[in-house]
Amino acid sequence: MHEMSLAHSMMQQVLALAREHKASQVNSITVLLGPFSGVVAESFAFAFEILKKNETCLHNAVLHLECPDPRYRCLGCGAETSLPLPGQGARAHLDFDFFTEKQCPACASTRLSPLGGRELILQQIRME
Ligand SMILES: [Zn+2]
Repeated sequence: MHEMSLAHSMMQQVLALAREHKASQVNSITVLLGPFSGVVAESFAFAFEILKKNETCLHNAVLHLECPDPRYRCLGCGAETSLPLPGQGARAHLDFDFFTEKQCPACASTRLSPLGGRELILQQIRME
């Protein structure tokens, strides 16, 4: 489960920031999880819950995961659109192949190029 090591390194970032701001308590953490990051949101959240027990200042921290829909640019007409996913469960198995079966809603081209989506970004931390 590589979510464990990802959650661990994310937590190191959070702890470093908390130290920097001399915070005693982290209340919430928001993480952006790209649809192509290969990270299973449920596993990541699970790993976070386990790891936070080791850090006093994270005991009350609530993790918010943002999982945006995949975006792409059409190579036919240049339109940038996001495509809704079939369901939460499908995210775990999502790959760039996702787009090969899709058509641009504007020009019906099938030459779609994914825009980002591999990111795992620490977006916001609330602490006191
Ligand atoms: Zn198009």
